Amino acid sequence: MTPPPAIALRRGDAGPAVAAVCERLVLTGDLPAELPGDLPGGAGHDDRFGDPVFDERVEHAVKSFQQRRGLLVDGIVGRHTYAALDGARWTLGDRVLRYIPEYFVEGDDVVALQARLTELGFTPGKVDGIHGPATDAAVRAFQAALGLETDGTVGPETMRAFAGLRRSVVGGSANALRERESIRRSGHSLSGRTVVVDPGHGGADRGAQGHRGLGEAQLALDLARRIEGRLSSHGVSVVFTHTEATDGGSDEDRAAFANSCDADLVLSLHTDHSQTGSAHGVATYFYGAADHAGWSTMGEHFADLLLREVVARTGLTDCRTHARAWPLLRRTRMPAVRLDVGYLSHEGDAAALSDPQTLDHIAEAVVVALQRVYLGEADTSRTGMLRLDDLRRHLASMQGVPTGDRTGS
Ligand SMILES: [Zn+2]
Repeated sequence: MTPPPAIALRRGDAGPAVAAVCERLVLTGDLPAELPGDLPGGAGHDDRFGDPVFDERVEHAVKSFQQRRGLLVDGIVGRHTYAALDGARWTLGDRVLRYIPEYFVEGDDVVALQARLTELGFTPGKVDGIHGPATDAAVRAFQAALGLETDGTVGPETMRAFAGLRRSVVGGSANALRERESIRRSGHSLSGRTVVVDPGHGGADRGAQGHRGLGEAQLALDLARRIEGRLSSHGVSVVFTHTEATDGGSDEDRAAFANSCDADLVLSLHTDHSQTGSAHGVATYFYGAADHAGWSTMGEHFADLLLREVVARTGLTDCRTHARAWPLLRRTRMPAVRLDVGYLSHEGDAAALSDPQTLDHIAEAVVVALQRVYLGEADTSRTGMLRLDDLRRHLASMQGVPTGDRTGS
């Protein structure tokens, strides 16, 4: 596998790294192969493009690739875009896959591997195209189950074993089934769970500033504390990614931190802002890439419930739920959702958010949405109608049967 370039490539750049990018963009179909700069097929890759320039067409191709993959659409080839681009050319079986702790292998073949393992009943974690420890463990479990050498290497022997097995679950819903099953098994209770709350920005990074003296970082932290108070009272361990004085580092750092906590869920808190001042409303984001098999069904479910609860309780405009491949959403091993609650650049949203009662309503929406995720199919409540006390009663009645009290007395 090719290590990612250390620097970001952008318009105006030239040289071998740009040639490598162009070559991959042709393979993904984003850059037409008949582009000037000659592409005689079969020639060595170094001189296929001569000395190509990162021009407008290349930038356009990068953007279209980023758009499809749910990456940040900036037309710049940084680490994440390069890794996705580099991984896009592989189909399962093209190369030998194995877990490399220092540099997780990424690619469409890893997506196929994870999907296949999931279908067969193994648990590689999220189907995200990243060959991490969970995928490695699933490969080894698969090998052990088939009596193969458990070396974690997906080579010809393991590929033959795959080919010889009938699919136990057919279709693309295996991952969804598995996530739902794992929620069902984990029970209906919030108690004993760990939620990582990520107040956006922090430290020297104050985020967006808006009307009424509101600042994003401060608001996110205030909201995080209100959520923490409510979740704690339900027996949930709440861990913040950073304190008031510190920043939580990059999204990758925050994701790594959440993974190290072995959390059940990650909730990232932000506000939005716009140049014109007219945009307003609330949106939620979960992990999912447009043409990719990678998708967090539980993340989507929570993002959807959270959005509806917040809208119902605050009256903020519904800006919908969106799939994104942002590092925090993608690199977390547990479902992760980002809430962008209101535009500080909008007079009405800022007025609402400057009222502590609105923040309390949002915090309550988080708890109720989370509870509804774990209630699963038992959830018959109507959005915005459920109060925390009702939930407790509902849960108590549901848990009345399995507590086992009837047998002893
Ligand atoms: Zn932000």
